[in-house]
Amino acid sequence: MTHDLIRDAPGPQPRRPSRQILVGRVPIGGGAPVTVQSMTNTDTRDARETLRQVGQLAEAGADLVRVAVPDAQAVRALGEICSGSDVPIVADIHFDHRLALGAIAAGAAKVRINPGNLGRARYVEEVASAATRAGVPLRVGVNAGSLPAEIIESAGVTPEGMVQAALDQVRILERVGFEDLVISLKASNVAVTVRANELMAGRVDYPLHLGVTEAGSFARGSVKSAVGLGYLLGRGIGDTLRVSLTGDPVDEVRVALGILSAWGLRQSGPEIISCPTCGRCRVDLLRIVDEVERSVEGVRAPIKIAVMGCEVNGPGEARDADVGLACGRGVGLLMREGKVLKKVSEEDMVEELVALVEAYLASQP
Ligand code: SF4
Repeated sequence: MTHDLIRDAPGPQPRRPSRQILVGRVPIGGGAPVTVQSMTNTDTRDARETLRQVGQLAEAGADLVRVAVPDAQAVRALGEICSGSDVPIVADIHFDHRLALGAIAAGAAKVRINPGNLGRARYVEEVASAATRAGVPLRVGVNAGSLPAEIIESAGVTPEGMVQAALDQVRILERVGFEDLVISLKASNVAVTVRANELMAGRVDYPLHLGVTEAGSFARGSVKSAVGLGYLLGRGIGDTLRVSLTGDPVDEVRVALGILSAWGLRQSGPEIISCPTCGRCRVDLLRIVDEVERSVEGVRAPIKIAVMGCEVNGPGEARDADVGLACGRGVGLLMREGKVLKKVSEEDMVEELVALVEAYLASQP
């Protein structure tokens, strides 16, 4: 009974209708699956090292990867990065329109820029027409930490102020006829990020890029992003997202995929559930879960795998999983769709579980 109830659980609210843009071959908005992005933290001028990290991010599941383009040398490296990457590359540019033009010429699939920072209107027009010719969309975004002084004066550092600041940037581009846009509104405060995106979602139909900025370390940042981005996605808001964490960007992708799969918005291979352990547990469950995780890393098909710490409550708690293992002292119970199949020895239980995963997937249509 529990099995069916959980499987029939409601998903997020219907997605907010938005227009669709294309970043290379990857659609964003307009009902396309929510995409995951991350950003390299290598020196972009080192094309080899940057490409290596782009590859790691793509391998982890990133649909797009952003790289900082701070100077002309980085623009030169960008050509090699774009042509060597399997995923579209987004160029992150501030202030200098020549870098934006260079990035578009180098093959960037999207450019993140704030037109209000480019100086003269002529520069905005030049970037917009180069982007139009190349079919390259632009992301305009505001960060609560760097709102223009006049907005702070009139609206303060508030969700409304962020929306106004972003719309000012959007209007600059719309005035030159450019509408191939994604908008982002980020703050390090979860509630401010949520409210700003809710407000924007009701005002325009451009796709929204979600993120809680400067979210912090792995644990803190993951929690903040899961709360903020998870809430918005649950309300149907958000077309692409980046989880910002201090540390290895591959973790950003893993967390982003975890947030999406928690809502059923993305299936990122196996979902492994494991119990927190308690006084009944007689095995090193953390080591076993780690081993199982590593053994199924290459699996891309959806499957729910339970790894439980005892054979008393484990089978019941694993009832909702496709396959499971309940670990007792020296033995494990292997389960499939809630039914115990057989008892296996502790030394063989991970191997047996992996074989069961393969058998289960092979039997699926
Ligand atoms: S499955 Fe067993 S070991 Fe794990 S929390 Fe439940 S009772 Fe404790």
